[in-house]
Amino acid sequence: MDLLLLIHIILVVSLIVGAPQANAWGKEGHFMVCKIAEQYLTDKTLSAVSDLLPAAAEGDLASVCSWADQMRFRYRWASPLHYINTPGVCNFNYSRDCHNSNGEKDVCVAGAISNYTGQLQAYGDSSNGYNLTESLMFLAHFVGDIHQPLHVSFADDEGGNTIVVHWYRRKSNLHHVWDVSMIETAMKDYYNDDLSTMIEAIKMNITADKLDQWETCSGKLATCVNQYATESINLACEYAYKDVKQDSTLGDTYFFSRLPVVQERIAQGAVRLAKILNEIFDGSSVDTKLRLSTAARAIQI
Ligand SMILES: [Zn+2]
Repeated sequence: MDLLLLIHIILVVSLIVGAPQANAWGKEGHFMVCKIAEQYLTDKTLSAVSDLLPAAAEGDLASVCSWADQMRFRYRWASPLHYINTPGVCNFNYSRDCHNSNGEKDVCVAGAISNYTGQLQAYGDSSNGYNLTESLMFLAHFVGDIHQPLHVSFADDEGGNTIVVHWYRRKSNLHHVWDVSMIETAMKDYYNDDLSTMIEAIKMNITADKLDQWETCSGKLATCVNQYATESINLACEYAYKDVKQDSTLGDTYFFSRLPVVQERIAQGAVRLAKILNEIFDGSSVDTKLRLSTAARAIQI
């Protein structure tokens, strides 16, 4: 083959495939959270969501779930909204930890979820003054982020970003392993490189019991969000950081024991995103409808 033609083909293919994302659950992780959430949305919620989505999304929430990462450089102010730093401890305390580097309160992923939920509750009031399309895209993204254990983790290592590791043979960092690499390796090894097969596998593991448990949260949204953050920092300590040092090589042992955590957090993020959206757009009828859809799914399976 003509060498120039070959180079041209390689360039075109690499453009189509695109560069990997570096922030938060990667593109695939966020897509899965939103895609699975869609299945639990009530009709009323679905219609409000598609009303708010940008036209380019063609009614599919999952297609804009990484929008907040794409905007990270344009919306610099939003950068601290993707995570929570703790002062090197394995617990989360909202008043201690939810602030940006200037100490401004509520500027963290837990505060952002409450804030954008509040804005979306003004849906239907034409004088609300918010850009609810952006509020929805932020909310869908941040509910995913708060479930990634290393998005609620230690300030000193920037959520594992400064911990250099080898993922099998490739040089990486611990944060990236959790955002992207474990999902990529799972896709390749178990799901034939097909995202929809991985989504189906994760969905199959959402039993009625788990669904009930994950949705349940005593108290208001802020309390629930604190619970999600607490779960993440606990998992960061028990799984993500455990047995990892600078320059560790992470391979099968790490992958096999941590992948179930990744998959479960994606499922929990999805169920809780659906719950929050249903509560915003479909009021109190939500729990029953979610249970109904669980029962319906149980029958299908
Ligand atoms: Zn993010």
